[in-house]
Amino acid sequence: MRQPLVIANWKMHGKSAFNEALVTDFLAKLMAGRAECVLCPPSVYLGQIAGLLDSSDVMLGAQDCSHIDEGAYTGEVSAEMLRDCGCTWVIVGHSERRQYHQESDALLAAKLAMAQRAGLTPVLCVGETQEQREAGEAEQVVRAQLLGALDDLSDYRHLAIAYEPVWAIGTGLTASPEQAQAMHEFIRDVMRELDARSAESLRLLYGGSVKPGNASELFAQADIDGALVGGASLDAEAFAAIVSAA
Ligand code: PEP
Repeated sequence: MRQPLVIANWKMHGKSAFNEALVTDFLAKLMAGRAECVLCPPSVYLGQIAGLLDSSDVMLGAQDCSHIDEGAYTGEVSAEMLRDCGCTWVIVGHSERRQYHQESDALLAAKLAMAQRAGLTPVLCVGETQEQREAGEAEQVVRAQLLGALDDLSDYRHLAIAYEPVWAIGTGLTASPEQAQAMHEFIRDVMRELDARSAESLRLLYGGSVKPGNASELFAQADIDGALVGGASLDAEAFAAIVSAA
């Protein structure tokens, strides 16, 4: 009932020649399957990747957007500009932006609204740190992140949520399928409180060192509807295998 969704987050990696080889190789290895797939390159390469994806079903996304529509905000990229470049998706609130750019839940709420207004589907990232998990606070932290960013959203249908435990991002540590499922189930319960009707169709992605070797087990869980993939998305064969597993 929920179509699987797998999103590549290239972070700050790539150069023109590398990007072309990666996307060409990935498209050649990608088998027709059930999953929807999105590539999120650095914003300066969106035009290049849009051209490479032109005749495929793979969609284009951005890694962030501004919370402002336009104006004298040097360095910012608006949601409308991203839409104009061919994006249909945008990642919002990745833990690296929360950590290195001090992005607050209130700011993320504004970004989500701006993204949807421009016609983009935002993917809100949530997740606890190692210390928070060890202190038994994981659910409390994730619940606060969800309510803080989503409380005022008017459209819960054009949205996805990625659960990315901070301790599993880029570390090689993965939440066990049972740990990930438990948190996904909890997230769906919180989303039922916000909008009971859309919670069942809302796609919840897991992120944190997803690889071909652990993808199938994660995707087999009832509330895991796909993945947000960092490191492994820079390897055409590995990423194609993850998409096929979904
Ligand atoms: C990410 O960047 O969202 C991520 C999950 O990274 P990785 O797959 O490398 O852990």
